[in-house]
Amino acid sequence: MGNGYLIRCVNCNYEYRALLGYGMLFPTVYQETVEGIKEGKFGEEYQKFFEEHPDAAVNCEAYMAICQDCGAFDTVKSMSLFLPKKSDDKTVNVGCLTFQEIKEGYKIAKKYPHKCSSCGGTLKPIDLIDKLSQKAVRCPVCKGEMQLTPDLLLWD
Ligand SMILES: [Zn+2]
Ligand SMILES: [Zn+2]
Repeated sequence: MGNGYLIRCVNCNYEYRALLGYGMLFPTVYQETVEGIKEGKFGEEYQKFFEEHPDAAVNCEAYMAICQDCGAFDTVKSMSLFLPKKSDDKTVNVGCLTFQEIKEGYKIAKKYPHKCSSCGGTLKPIDLIDKLSQKAVRCPVCKGEMQLTPDLLLWD
C-alpha cells in the first residue's frame, strides 16, 4: 500500500504532495515496468541487462527525490535492478514478485540515474520521513524548513 504525504514550507507555505510506495496496483505497475524495460523505454543498458539476466527484478516503489543541483522536488520510481541471491534458483516467478520478496531474496545490481525535470541535474531518492525528522528537507523556493502537514492519506 502507498501513502500520500503533504509537506509544507514553514517560511513561504510552498507545498508538495508526494505519493510514495506502490499502492495496490503493484503487480500491474511491475508488469508494465518490466515490459517497458524490454522495449527499451529505460535505455539500452537496462534493456540489455534484462536480456542477459531474465531472472532480474526491478523495484517499482515510488520515492520522493530531491535534485542535487537546483533543489527541486520530484517523485520517482526507484527502478533499481536486482538479481536473485541464489543464481541457481529457477523457481522464481519474476512477474509476480512483491517488494518484500525482492527485499528478501535479491541483491542490488544497478541503480537508475534519475534526472531532474527542471534542470537536468541528478535526482537523489530519499527516505522522506527520515529526512524530515532530521530537518534535512529544504524548500526549493526559499530554503525554509519543510514540515509534514497532518493530512496523511492512503491511495491505491
Ligand atoms: Zn519556502
Ligand atoms: Zn534540478
